[in-house]
Amino acid sequence: MKMIGLLGGMSWESTSLYYRLINQGVKKRLGGLHSARIALVSVDFQDIEEMQQNGDWDSAGHALAESAKQIEAAGADFLLICTNTMHKVAPQIEAAIDIPLLHIADATARQIQMAGMKTIGLLGTRFTMEQAFYKGRLAEKHGLTVLIPPEQDREIVHRIIYDELCLGQIRDESRKAYLRIMDDLQQRGAEGIIEGCTEIVTLVQQQHTDIPLFDTTSIHAKAAVEEALR
Ligand code: GLU
Repeated sequence: MKMIGLLGGMSWESTSLYYRLINQGVKKRLGGLHSARIALVSVDFQDIEEMQQNGDWDSAGHALAESAKQIEAAGADFLLICTNTMHKVAPQIEAAIDIPLLHIADATARQIQMAGMKTIGLLGTRFTMEQAFYKGRLAEKHGLTVLIPPEQDREIVHRIIYDELCLGQIRDESRKAYLRIMDDLQQRGAEGIIEGCTEIVTLVQQQHTDIPLFDTTSIHAKAAVEEALR
């Protein structure tokens, strides 16, 4: 079994899901007392979030690249960045290490294609919804048509992620807001919705809606298990 590298802490609420999902996946595949071989470095998210706010992506990229090097030195065979947003600095991280990166958007796009869908709604942080590193990658590399909410709704989705979900707060009214925004995207033609932030699954799960959901945390964790056992 290969050793899975996890660059986590962004936020730890979702990194704890990765840890659980990956171990459950390995246990399911191998049985018995089997568990995943994992090297995890978990950063202090306050520091990273301040760099995001200041638009200082270079420093954030540098900090995460240093963590990625520690993960590689610990023996990991490949790396997962346990957040959609920080894939913005994926090129900087990849340049600092020799092990491959399992990109969250690529793993997600594969699932969408396997479901036979072409037009997809995307919810995530403002950075993920608006910028080329994610939305653009889905469109250009994978040929998907990506719909995002209007400005006002993007603000709501973004705020709930940082002010509630990353702090472990789950509110019914926030779930209602997300479901309404997902419905609007479906009305506009989305065949499914990408939960493009690793904490969204803590708020909205498939049981809450008929719209097919692509939970990036579970998809990414599952892809890691497959790669580790390949
Ligand atoms: N975990 C979130 C994501 O998947 C947001 C936190 C962050 O800014 O990294 O995008």
